[in-house]
Amino acid sequence: MTALCALCPRNCRVDREEKTGYCGMGQNARVARAALHFWEEPCLSGVRGSGTVFFSGCTLRCAYCQNHEISHLGQGKDVSPGHLAEIFRMLVEQGAHNLNLVTGTQFVPAILKALAIYDPPVPVVWNSGGYEKIETLRLLEGAVDVYLPDFKHLSPRLSALCAGAPDYGDVTTAAIAEMLRQTGPPVYDADGMMLRGTLIRHLILPGCTGDSMKILSYIAEHFPGVPVSLMRQYTPEPWCAIPGLDRRITDREYGRVLEHFRALGLQGYLQEKESADGAYTPPFDLTGV
Ligand code: SF4
Repeated sequence: MTALCALCPRNCRVDREEKTGYCGMGQNARVARAALHFWEEPCLSGVRGSGTVFFSGCTLRCAYCQNHEISHLGQGKDVSPGHLAEIFRMLVEQGAHNLNLVTGTQFVPAILKALAIYDPPVPVVWNSGGYEKIETLRLLEGAVDVYLPDFKHLSPRLSALCAGAPDYGDVTTAAIAEMLRQTGPPVYDADGMMLRGTLIRHLILPGCTGDSMKILSYIAEHFPGVPVSLMRQYTPEPWCAIPGLDRRITDREYGRVLEHFRALGLQGYLQEKESADGAYTPPFDLTGV
């Protein structure tokens, strides 16, 4: 009997051999780029780079996504588990500090098959939008060393507007709790590279500093000690038609959220202003695929 897909909270229950669900992807993993990436947090990029695999399709498809060509348009190349294992091996041979799997939720079975073929000698990082089911995260237990979830919105209204997912806040807070159960507190090597743990990312959206501050307060209360990466790189994209999201955040908005971050005693990473220019979005040109 063919399994109907319910890997993510969209619960499409489609046979992905025959048709696609919300993510728009079939059974085979589709990859748009696999290369060393130097613009992650220092504990992930280090000096040699993070071995980053950008998967196509997305279970969230946020209206403002900077990776629109792959998340919404599905650009990329289908690869077998064996081919994906070779991609992983190549990145490790290039010197990657870790394997950084970006937006792979829709391909969990294929990714697990690839990791069974090639067991990498470096940490595996699950870099996701945070919109994950507990059952699916449990499939990853033991295969993933570092979780790198976004915590994008807490407001159901904002989540519905941006990603058609009013349950995003509830789902993501439960997912992060499961990630923390699996990894425990962060563990670093002597060079400060993260070997194990969970690191939460939050991107400040223009006009949404109130939601950002609620998210930071939630993290401080419920996930104490977890490092947070506060990002100011929001770049307005032509395909995003949501009123108010057509500009960058101001220094004043960033300052307000940063002050709250510090007042809460959060630890982690603060993004430089210079990175808010969109230049850090790599080309999705099938490099390394
Ligand atoms: S992975 Fe894709 S097809 Fe499966 S439930 Fe999620 S959005 Fe639907």
